[in-house]
This record gives sequence, C-alpha cells and structure tokens, in this order.
Amino acid sequence: MDFSPGISYFLGQLGKAFFAPGSQVSLLSLLCAFFIALVVVGARRLKKGRRVRLKSLLRALFPKHIVMSRSSLADLGYFYFNLFLFGIIFGWALLSYEVLSHSVADLLTATFGPRQPPALPIFVSRTVITVMLFLAYELGYWLNHYLSHRIPFLWEFHKVHHSATVLTPLTNFRVHPVYMCIFLNILAVFTGLANGVGDYLFGQTTHQYGLSENNLILVFFIYLYVHLQHTQLWISFTGWLGHLLMSPAHHQIHHSRNPDHFNKNLGSCLALWDWLFGTLHIPSGEPEVLKFGVEPDRPHAHTIRGEFIAPFGRAALLLKHLIERRSQPVPLRAPEQKRA
Ligand SMILES: [Zn+2]
Ligand SMILES: [Zn+2]
Repeated sequence: MDFSPGISYFLGQLGKAFFAPGSQVSLLSLLCAFFIALVVVGARRLKKGRRVRLKSLLRALFPKHIVMSRSSLADLGYFYFNLFLFGIIFGWALLSYEVLSHSVADLLTATFGPRQPPALPIFVSRTVITVMLFLAYELGYWLNHYLSHRIPFLWEFHKVHHSATVLTPLTNFRVHPVYMCIFLNILAVFTGLANGVGDYLFGQTTHQYGLSENNLILVFFIYLYVHLQHTQLWISFTGWLGHLLMSPAHHQIHHSRNPDHFNKNLGSCLALWDWLFGTLHIPSGEPEVLKFGVEPDRPHAHTIRGEFIAPFGRAALLLKHLIERRSQPVPLRAPEQKRA
C-alpha cells in the first residue's frame, strides 16, 4: 500500500497551518502571543517587587495542571481533527463566497443599473473592502455565536467548546464539525454580501489586502491577542477600548461558569457588535477569579464519545421532542378548569 500521498497531504496541511504567516495558528503569531504574555507576566512580577527569572515565568505561563489536563488533551485531539479531516469531509458543503459575491453584484446591477466606472484609486477601494470584509466577518461570527447560544439544538454542538475546563490557545480548535459547518456557511453569506456590495460600489472587482488569503486586519488581531483569549492570563480592556475590542479577559468571561456571564461577549476580535446588540460584559481591570466549563465534568467529558458523538444524540433527542410537541393534536375546546 502506498501511503506517500497521505503523508504528503499531512505534511502539506501542517506546513500551511504553522508556516503560512497569515494562518490562524502560524508559529510566528504563536511566538508573538508568547512574547506578549512573557512581558505582561514579567512586568507584573517586577511591579510586585518579585524577582524575574525565565524559569519561573515559564512555569507561570505553562502550569502543569493546565498543560497536562484531560481538557487540554481533548483540545489537542480536536486540533488534529480540524486541521486534517475537517476540510476533506465538510469542505464541499460550503456555500461559495465567490458565487454569492457575484450574485449580489449582478442583482444590484439589475436593480440600480450598471456599475459606474471606477472613481477611486485602487488602494483606497482595496482598503475600504478590507475593512468591510473584516466587519462582515465579525458580524457573521457574532450572529453564528449568538444563535449557537440561544438555539438549544445548536448549543449542543457549541457546548463542546465550552466544556473546556482550562483554556489554552488550542481550545480555539475545540469546535464540533457541525458548529464549524454552520459557522463557515454564515460567514460565506456575510462576506459574500459585503464583497458583492463593494464590487458594485467601486465599479470593479476589488480584492482585500490579506496575508496567506486571510484578511489583513484579522491577521493583525491574531498576532496581537486572539491566541491570548484562550489562556488564563488576565489582560483586560476597559473603558472605551473595552467597548470596541474583545480583550483576552472578555473571552475568558465568555467561558465562565458564573451565570452572570452566560451568553456575553460573543464577538471574535471586536466587542463592537456585542456593545451594539446588548451582549457586552466589560471585564474589570483587576484579575477576576473564574471557573471554566459548562457543568462539573461528566462521565465521558473530554473523550471522543462525550465531545464528538454525544452532541449528535442530544441534538437528535431535542429535535424529536420538538417534532412530537408539534404533532400533538390541539384540543378543540379548552380543557375544563378544575374546581378548587
Ligand atoms: Zn460560546
Ligand atoms: Zn472560546
């Protein structure tokens, strides 16, 4: 049996994920997050008058009880699954961003007449479309996340992400394939719409500025703090900045078991949409003690059975109850009230 095509696919995916500078998990962006974390922890120790040694900093950043936890191992499993299998199994099911974009531009042309010749210098229209696509990505992310928290059927699949009891950058990949499928389709609709409108307004097909096919603004935030959102290092943005940007502490609050924090901070890089739609919870400047996870660890927590297969069963059960409730005959007369 010839395994070489499989091996070269595996290495290709690994290379793309870690070495493409605009990838969600590029080594460069992880290194950047590591240095930011190192500086923050070091500065805090200095402020408290404690000695700063590399060994103690590393111990503070990678505590054994987090790195070796069952929750972290499950994150690693999902990371490999999403990196190597997800694209093959589900990639074909996606709505096409490009088809949607062309359809929107065609629809606008049919409704409002042909596009005007390009009026703006190309770098201006490319900058504007880069911002438009970033905002559309963020809005699509927020909506998908909101629906995943509010619709019980979808929550069963998103709960997998929230069942992490410790947070590490790999927790970002702890997402069920059903959640991912819906997320990518919603994103395709939002970014396809934005791109179609942009193309029509600019009078030409305009391409965003990007790095490794990722939006440049998104890449900027990945380097700045997206990896740190799934860590237990408290870095919070408060005041006006806390209304605009989703600091690591914002997202840690999103994972909190405290009922006051449920369904809050649903954005990705921006807090803006949460602010506008009333789901924002600004973290305090001082570290808050949080517990993560959805419930005390279940018998099959952090296993393939608990985090991958069980959500299908629970979601199917919810659907069954819903269908049964709908198909129950409605009484012709209201039942007589019991007399006291
Ligand atoms: Zn969530
Ligand atoms: Zn998260």
